[in-house]
Amino acid sequence: MRMAPRVLVIEDEKDLSTVIAYNLRADGLEVVVCDTGEAGIREATSRRFDLVVLDLMLPDMSGLDVCRKIKATSATKGIPILIASARGEEVDRVVGLELGADDYVVKPFSVRELVLRVRAILRRAESAPPPTDIVEFGVLKIDRGAHRVFVNDEEVQLTALEFRLLSTLHERRNRTQGRDTLLLDVWQMNTPVESRTVDTHVKRLREKLGAASGYIRTVRGVGYRFASSPDEPGGD
Ligand code: CA
Repeated sequence: MRMAPRVLVIEDEKDLSTVIAYNLRADGLEVVVCDTGEAGIREATSRRFDLVVLDLMLPDMSGLDVCRKIKATSATKGIPILIASARGEEVDRVVGLELGADDYVVKPFSVRELVLRVRAILRRAESAPPPTDIVEFGVLKIDRGAHRVFVNDEEVQLTALEFRLLSTLHERRNRTQGRDTLLLDVWQMNTPVESRTVDTHVKRLREKLGAASGYIRTVRGVGYRFASSPDEPGGD
């Protein structure tokens, strides 16, 4: 029998964490609640979790720092994080996603929406390619299971977002992806953020890719495309 997915809820508002835990449990998930960032990090490293629901405003530390810690620890970096943010500021969510969070909900959210999003992330994680799924493309090697990227056999450290950007472009290679499409599929932003965000990240990704940077071509006025060769003529 399959083990029930286990969710760690890091949330200091008792009423809210109780409702969240109740509804996730009713949906067949196992739930552990922590009310401080420190306890959450300790819990995350102590046993297997399939997902973390993370409040950004915690009494002892910022949720963004919790996110950073979880993503910087090899034992926990693969755990998807769903940010629950009370702040209306887009910037915190963008930073959270840059740190490797998978999705966010804005408070006040409906618990039903939260459960649906948790389910969606768990489904994505479940259907993720197996750990041996390595794609080689000239000087570039993408390990889709382990979320690692190598250029000329040297590992390139990418953020979760950069990895998703690269693998999305690669999966749809030779088809130009508009900035709006990328924002939706890579950033999973339903609300429009500055499309310059895409350009900024592509620039950073290219810098990190070095010899493989030429695979990512700008299609003027449209967006980006993964080319069949890093030195294919045309583009910029
Ligand atoms: Ca809080």
